[in-house]
Amino acid sequence: MRNFVITAVLSLVFLSAHGQSAVEKGLESINRSSAESVVRFLASDELEGREAGRHGSRVAARYIASQLEWMGIEPLGDSYFHPFEACRKERSQRGRFEVHPDSMALISQGVHRKLSLSNVLGMIPGKNRDEYVIVGAHFDHLGIDEALENDKIYNGADDNASGVSAVLQIARAFVASGEQPERNVIFAFWDGEEIGLLGSKAFVLTCPFIDRVKGYLNFDMIGRNTDEGRPDHVVYFYTASYPVFERWLRDDIKRYDLKLTPHYNAWESPISGSDNASFAKAGIPIIWYHTDGHTDYHQPSDHPDKLNWSKIVEITKASFLNSWNLANEKY
Ligand SMILES: [Zn+2]
Repeated sequence: MRNFVITAVLSLVFLSAHGQSAVEKGLESINRSSAESVVRFLASDELEGREAGRHGSRVAARYIASQLEWMGIEPLGDSYFHPFEACRKERSQRGRFEVHPDSMALISQGVHRKLSLSNVLGMIPGKNRDEYVIVGAHFDHLGIDEALENDKIYNGADDNASGVSAVLQIARAFVASGEQPERNVIFAFWDGEEIGLLGSKAFVLTCPFIDRVKGYLNFDMIGRNTDEGRPDHVVYFYTASYPVFERWLRDDIKRYDLKLTPHYNAWESPISGSDNASFAKAGIPIIWYHTDGHTDYHQPSDHPDKLNWSKIVEITKASFLNSWNLANEKY
């Protein structure tokens, strides 16, 4: 009997040592071929540079929604699409597009341009329905410029098909983990970032539960080596008053042997750069992954063949672990 008990205990220990944890199951689902297939589709010439309000960006939005549906992730609202409008004065070339209803009402009194845009939003409901975390990236880019010689299409592989691939893989990793997160986790794909962070602004402005969003994790350009001698370099911006965000990443890189050497950048007030700004302005702590500007930034030459795929995979794994902590930990 005693031997049996010892054997049974030993087998349990053996099983738990060799059975995968929920986090490990999620991590294992993240891979290069998924990153490549998302980026190569979004950055293909057929998507015409995904300019906000144009055909290419609508195809991109439908593609992203179909990926969420295929994973079994619910829409946040009645549908995956979160439509909104933006407008600006016709003549002022430097005039900004506005999404705030008051500014729009004012602009609408004169001759103006109006755009119909749409974010894509999915959610995994948490055990605690009252709290939310959001993982997001913009999917729009700069479109086509017919006046350009030669290549006229701004494919935007790094900016920001790379970031979209990370959010999609993180969504799938949550599903693959087989465990319901503590908080609701929203997967957000923003439209109109390139013309003034419009999608994230419109979301923050209209979201009825914005005061219950505990954290926002952003991606904008995560695929390039700006220094070939440091292929594992990435900038990790985070809200300075949350030093735990740095501790999480340092621990996870060690624990899971991730090939990343982040530049940790504690930021007092992260209210510029990308969609993180919209959330930081609303007082929500942020994390933002970014691999620096480069000579192909906002050029038609931002192509998939210039990306470091293994870096995208390592960043996606690291940020899945961040997202897991945002969703499940106390902070
Ligand atoms: Zn961008």
